[in-house]
Amino acid sequence: MRKAQRVDLHSHSTASDGVLTPSELVKRAAQNRVALFALTDHDTVAGLAEAREAAGQFGVPFVAGVEISVSFAGETIHVVGLGIDETAPALTTGLEQVRRGRTARARKMAAALEACGFADVWEGALRFVRNPDLISRAHFARYLVHAGHFSSMNAVFAHYLAKGKPGYVDYQWATLQEAVSWIHAAGGVAVVAHPGRYRLSEREWNALLAEFVDLGGDAIEVITSAHDPNATNHWVHICRRYGLAASQGSDFHAPEESPWDLGALGHTLPDDLVPVWQRWQ
Ligand code: AMP
Ligand code: MN
Ligand code: MN
Ligand code: MN
Repeated sequence: MRKAQRVDLHSHSTASDGVLTPSELVKRAAQNRVALFALTDHDTVAGLAEAREAAGQFGVPFVAGVEISVSFAGETIHVVGLGIDETAPALTTGLEQVRRGRTARARKMAAALEACGFADVWEGALRFVRNPDLISRAHFARYLVHAGHFSSMNAVFAHYLAKGKPGYVDYQWATLQEAVSWIHAAGGVAVVAHPGRYRLSEREWNALLAEFVDLGGDAIEVITSAHDPNATNHWVHICRRYGLAASQGSDFHAPEESPWDLGALGHTLPDDLVPVWQRWQ
C-alpha cells in the first residue's frame, strides 16, 4: 500500500469538459486529502494558473498537466503530460494547433445531431461550455442528458457520439510523435492515458507501444476509472514488459458523472513498478 496513497494525476476542470472550476476542483482534492494532484485538461493549459494558486492556498501538492488528443491507426488516443512548464512555446503552439479545429468539429456535430431529430443542440451544448476554445463531445452528451433525451452520458456516447455513430465527426488530432515531443519540450513526462479504452488490434497496440518507447515515452496509466481489475493487471504486465513507469488517476469530470472521486482510486500499484510520480514526492 505504500505507493498509491491518494495520488490523483488525471482530472478535468471547466477549462475543458469538467464541471468544477480549477479552484473548486483543488478544494475538492484538499477535502479528499489528495496527496498529489494533477489537473490534466484536454488540449489546453488554461486552467493551470488558477489551479496552482488554489493548490498553494489549500496546501495540495500540485503537478501541472495536460491531456493531448492524438490520432493513431484511425483511433483517438489520449496522451497525458505531467510536470509540464505550460509556458513552453513548443507545447503552447502545438496545443493551439490541436484546438484549432474543435469549434468547427463541434458545429458539425451539432448539425449531425439535429439531423437526428434533437433540437437546439448547438445552443444547448454551449450552455455547458465554460471555455469557448474547448468544446468537447462531453458537452453535447451533458446537454442531451439534461434535456431529458437520455438517462446517462454513456448512453449518448453508445448511440450517437462514439466512433461510427451518427453524431460522430472525424477529426485529425496530433500525431503521437508530436504529443510526446511537445510534452518533453515542456520538461514533462508523457503517459498513455486509460489504454483500456482504445479499440486497437494487438498489432496496432504493438506498433503504438514500440513507437511510444522509441520516442522516449515515459509511462502508462495503469490505474484509472476506465479499467476493471483485469485491465489493470494487463497494463501492469505491459509496463513491466516495456520498462515503462506507471501512473494513476481518477479522470474526474463531475461529482454526478464520475465513477471515482478525486483521490479515491480503489487500487494500488504493485511494488515493483516505478510510480511516475516518484520524482515529485
Ligand atoms: P472529445 O475530446 O471532444 O472527443 O471528447 C472526449 C470526451 O468525451 C472524453 O474526454 C470524455 O470526457 C467524454 N466521453 C467519452 N466517452 C464517454 C462515455 N462513454 N461516457 C461519458 N463520457 C465520455
Ligand atoms: Mn473529457
Ligand atoms: Mn481521456
Ligand atoms: Mn481525461
